[in-house]
Amino acid sequence: TKYILVSGGVVSGIGKGVIASSTGLLLKTAGLKVTAIKIDPYMNIDAGTMRPTEHGEVYVLNDGGEVDLDLGNYERYLDVTLSKDNNITTGKIYREVIEKERRGEYLGKTVQIVPHVTNAIQDWIERVSKVPVDESGEEPDICIVELGGTVGDIESAPFIEAMRQFQFRVGHDNFALIHVSLVPDMHGEQKTKPTQTTVHALRGLGLLPDLIACRLLGHTPLEPATKDKISMFCHVASEQVIGVHDVSSVYHVPLLLQSQGIIDYLRKRLNLANLNITEECI
Ligand code: ADP
Repeated sequence: TKYILVSGGVVSGIGKGVIASSTGLLLKTAGLKVTAIKIDPYMNIDAGTMRPTEHGEVYVLNDGGEVDLDLGNYERYLDVTLSKDNNITTGKIYREVIEKERRGEYLGKTVQIVPHVTNAIQDWIERVSKVPVDESGEEPDICIVELGGTVGDIESAPFIEAMRQFQFRVGHDNFALIHVSLVPDMHGEQKTKPTQTTVHALRGLGLLPDLIACRLLGHTPLEPATKDKISMFCHVASEQVIGVHDVSSVYHVPLLLQSQGIIDYLRKRLNLANLNITEECI
């Protein structure tokens, strides 16, 4: 299984879920079996006890799991059936580690965030990514892992560290990172500083973005000059910078990503043989 981590910076709610689902949809269209995991770095075990006016409606899965709305996006975009284990929360990870500690399975060791919590996160992702999610009953080729919150939060730190280790566990060819950032428009000028700052923070934590998805609030696309500037200051090639402006329907986002060569890039980066995608497929 190959993994695509989707992280976010600057502000929450910039469209990570939509970008993650759209990337999964494009890969599925190209003939791959795609599954998805959503990480919510809160202490609640699940979304069932959370106020809908604050967090949106609870999404209920086939197995009764009460989860984040994003799981609904994944099921619709990818035509898959997910289970409650596809939604990881800090609460679920801690519960697992604490129960293991009570059973004495750590054999007298001091139980720590690193390596015990970070290992529990990696083991969970690896286990769930291999569970078949469509009628083929086969193991998925690709697992999209969306990390909720923003990079740099205290809440998401154990998950970021787990993913930093995970890239070595699975190998370079099997792990790519899409970082979603915000490019604000100030009186017609597209500002790159927030993106530079968040990419800098990400690198400091040991994760290098393969693609930087720049969200623009408004209908103006990312300008070539802005793209070049982000490429230069964030140490990526300009083909690794993707603009995602507001579109009339979120179901247009896959086309927007495809028109900027995201699948070509991922095909090379993740060594995806036999991947032959055309515009007509979508
Ligand atoms: P996050 O996962 O970062 O919290 P979501 O993917 O849930 O964000 O998106 C937040 C909101 O923004 C959703 O209501 C979604 O429909 C909307 N949205 C995301 N991307 C776009 C886009 N390119 N154009 C228009 N609306 C978008």
